Amino acid sequence: MGFESLLGNERLKENLQMSLQKDHASHFYLISGPAGSGKHTLARLLSAAVQCENTNRPCLRCNSCRKVMANTHPDCITVIDPDHKTVAVKLVRDARADIYVMPNEGRRKVYIFPQELGVEGQNALLKILEEPPQYGVFILLSDNPEKLLPTVRSRCTELSLQALPDSVLRSALQKDFPQADADSLAAAAARSGGYLGQAKQILESGSTFSQQAQDFTRAFCQRDSLGLVQVLVPMEKWKRDQAIPELQTWLSLLQEALIFRSGMQAASPLARQLAAARSSAELMAAISQLQKSIEYAQGNVSVAAICGHLQWSLR
Ligand SMILES: [Zn+2]
Repeated sequence: MGFESLLGNERLKENLQMSLQKDHASHFYLISGPAGSGKHTLARLLSAAVQCENTNRPCLRCNSCRKVMANTHPDCITVIDPDHKTVAVKLVRDARADIYVMPNEGRRKVYIFPQELGVEGQNALLKILEEPPQYGVFILLSDNPEKLLPTVRSRCTELSLQALPDSVLRSALQKDFPQADADSLAAAAARSGGYLGQAKQILESGSTFSQQAQDFTRAFCQRDSLGLVQVLVPMEKWKRDQAIPELQTWLSLLQEALIFRSGMQAASPLARQLAAARSSAELMAAISQLQKSIEYAQGNVSVAAICGHLQWSLR
């Protein structure tokens, strides 16, 4: 079956396969999961499945499937707005008008929204959600489904992507990175939280950590408060979308160190240093501080305030 190219997530794939075989496609899908969890892969396969000319959907062999996979199907439209953080409401309205134009050649007309929608955009979408044309299918992708309006989320069939089992993830990585040694594969798998896309990114970047992550590790290992201040003060001027990923890296390093201390998994060299220098209780305290800080940063607390707070709370 065509969903196989999405790894793991067996239950979800089975359920989808069953409903699509009976041609019971929903009009609205919400594909949720962290970065690198396979949202784009699933969106593509699902679009192929609803257009597929065979019953074993997606067959990935018929003309429609092939066009969708090659991104050349005229009735499979991706709505993106590269100039804005969220999709401009005008683009949502355009899609809303366009949906009432019959499909060119497909069985359905599919709109994929890979980018987050703001409140206004979601409200514009709601109008179609109330009364979609028979052939219309909308696929929303989201890292943060809880940020969607409840009225939008409740109308969607949610497909929530899960982390991959370690063995599945590692064998996939082995195939893609035949040169990498077992330790780097295991460390990338552990740091990725079980998400293939993230693990690949870690391996592609050669597991290099930012200067800040290296400086943080050194200062935290040596209980060097001044060193910590020296890392955090320049970060106070950073933009949110620069600071949050950096703090997430620190968080995943600490989590990796904690897991490594329990003897469960391989770890990157930085995480090993942390595990050697600090007790599990200390790592847990730092993890909790970072988790709170990241949550605040994702809310409305300024980056400067968060970095200031971490200077004394990460001891
Ligand atoms: Zn097909």
